[in-house]
Amino acid sequence: MIPFEYRTPKTLREVHHELKEFGADAKLIAGGTALVILMKQRLVRPSCLISLRSVRGLSGIAQRDGGLRIGGLTTHREVETSSVVRRQIPLLAETYRRVATIRVRNVATVGGGLAHADPNQDPPPTLIALGATVKASSANGSRLIPLDGFFTDYYETVLNPDEIITEVFVPRLPPNSAGAFLKFLPRTADDYATVSAAAVVTLDRARKIFADVRIVLGSVGTTTIRAREAEAVLRGQPVKAEALREAGEKAKQVVDPVSDFRGSAAYKREMAGVFTRRALEAALDSLAKKSKSSRTRKGPRRRKK
Ligand SMILES: Cc1cc2nc3c(=O)[nH]c(=O)nc-3n(C[C@H](O)[C@H](O)[C@H](O)COP(=O)(O)OP(=O)(O)OC[C@H]3O[C@@H](n4cnc5c(N)ncnc54)[C@H](O)[C@@H]3O)c2cc1C
Repeated sequence: MIPFEYRTPKTLREVHHELKEFGADAKLIAGGTALVILMKQRLVRPSCLISLRSVRGLSGIAQRDGGLRIGGLTTHREVETSSVVRRQIPLLAETYRRVATIRVRNVATVGGGLAHADPNQDPPPTLIALGATVKASSANGSRLIPLDGFFTDYYETVLNPDEIITEVFVPRLPPNSAGAFLKFLPRTADDYATVSAAAVVTLDRARKIFADVRIVLGSVGTTTIRAREAEAVLRGQPVKAEALREAGEKAKQVVDPVSDFRGSAAYKREMAGVFTRRALEAALDSLAKKSKSSRTRKGPRRRKK
């Protein structure tokens, strides 16, 4: 590795100051699980590393404004094991549980993962399907960025070099909603997905019609891909197996995978269709289970006298 300066700010203000001083030559470092590899490969050569480890107030999970606020420095493992996340948005805990191994999850952070912007990562499809927003801050103030428009290319985002992700906001699901994240992982546990899919469905009150649907795919393009055409097939339509198959077919048309050691482009395209359908089925299944368990909790309905 080439030599670099190492700064350890204690406050967000100090981080802003360091970012301003070094400009695009500086790199923030959180867990270091992605950055250190890139530095060892000399793909990234910062003249200064700004460690976020000692910065106060960047970690933690809190219930606010109808959703969860997750600090940028919160680890994957903290999201996975948080009782609040498991209770409020179980899909989020389940998705972070699927990332690599406990060893990686204990160190990798939510903000670092998003800024890294590798289209093979697991959390982005779920976070986009849930309608998450990133809060980025710099010396000039802070701004909210919908995650849907956050990733622009391989390892590229809309973040400016002087910005830091301080928080991710994930809204709670509306009533009659549920989601699922599926990851096709035929090799090792700490490998990236060959294809991944997140689906969030909201049904009408009678639970017969798709009121809203979000479908987002990973590992099949230069960014995480929202399959809007597939969503449009379902919105306002009755819940039927044929419609799910049709959505899968549409999803195949929006992906742009590359051939690599995880599979050929043609294979990944097929799998994107299959995993879209399966993620939708899993989301509907989860919704059915949720309503069954809430009926059980309430007990049998009393007959009116
Ligand atoms: C062996 C291994 C297996 C893996 N398998 C998976 C997997 O199966 N699924 C998966 O999703 N991921 C996987 N990953 C990737 C892992 O999720 C990322 O490496 C991790 O999320 C990056 O987080 P970090 O805190 O370590 O970031 P760092 O390495 O510290 O930083 C990554 C990038 O983000 C920037 N950055 C860091 N924090 C912030 C911030 N708060 N604001 C703005 N920019 C910031 C850094 O400057 C850098 O450019 C794997 C990684 C390893 C090493």
